[in-house]
Amino acid sequence: MPSPEVEDNELDLRDMESCFERTFEDLVLAGRTHWIEHQVVDRDITVRGCLFRARYVPTFADRYVMYTPSATTCPICLQSEKWEPSIGIGDSKLASFLLSRGVGILENNFPYFRGQFLLCSVPHIPVFSIPQLEAIVNFVTVAAIQTVTFQMEGSGATVPAHAHASFFSEKLPIFDLSRIVRSSVEEVDISVCPDFPSSAFVLSSGSIRNRVNVTKQICEFLVANGLVYNWLIDVNGDIFIIPRTAEKSIRMNRKIGAATVGGIYLAYCDDSKLRNAESLRQLIWDRFQSFTAVDYEAALTDVTAPISLNEEILQHWHFES
Ligand SMILES: [Zn+2]
Repeated sequence: MPSPEVEDNELDLRDMESCFERTFEDLVLAGRTHWIEHQVVDRDITVRGCLFRARYVPTFADRYVMYTPSATTCPICLQSEKWEPSIGIGDSKLASFLLSRGVGILENNFPYFRGQFLLCSVPHIPVFSIPQLEAIVNFVTVAAIQTVTFQMEGSGATVPAHAHASFFSEKLPIFDLSRIVRSSVEEVDISVCPDFPSSAFVLSSGSIRNRVNVTKQICEFLVANGLVYNWLIDVNGDIFIIPRTAEKSIRMNRKIGAATVGGIYLAYCDDSKLRNAESLRQLIWDRFQSFTAVDYEAALTDVTAPISLNEEILQHWHFES
């Protein structure tokens, strides 16, 4: 198999500069993507010294009313014909590069971040393979994508049976937290985030291939110990691994996804019996307004592993080359 490492001459970076921003705007204008940027509201929330945010997304009310995933057919496989050029980026060199590595790009009709799309495994598998993750990290660095988030079964995925990640053009607050390098394997630095309220690992430096290999090793160790995880990838291709103990916050009575773990809490209405979009918008707004730092910490601690897990993993996990 040829190396998925992207050569500089393989992709024309100038073509990619605003490719996804343009396509996102086109989809919004065409009414295929529900996003009203000037109505999205963010509010800073400091959680144990970390500057996080809560976000109000009015179009979540429309999502709740309009989107019902099929119970019998995989909703991602149903859209697989869209890997091809239909959304205007399928014929770009980056999309072709991803597709050749088994990763397709799909529009997200109900985004919660600016410029949000989906990266999906072409085969129906629950977690991205090593070559797929390697292609995604290459894509992030070449196209200067600000954030990729991945959630699996048990860590917030809407369609857990089919691997998919979100990419978007906003940065998550966790990326700005301080890090301490604790170990180095195959030239990959393994850092922890001492200010983050929960366990978190960051893999940086080394080749992308090695970073991905170490990621998979750590994640296999987590799964063997009864945990699941979220991946967050920043614009430098640094991979954040957040071990997860639960999908749902008991105290917040809702599923917690990767964005919340990364520092942006998205107010939602997934327990509501209401089906009127205006009423739901008001409910989401009220929940956004009343959400506190205490609530944020409860949501995080209900679903992520305590910070003491950092030491346990550093002591007991060993890289197998
Ligand atoms: Zn599928």
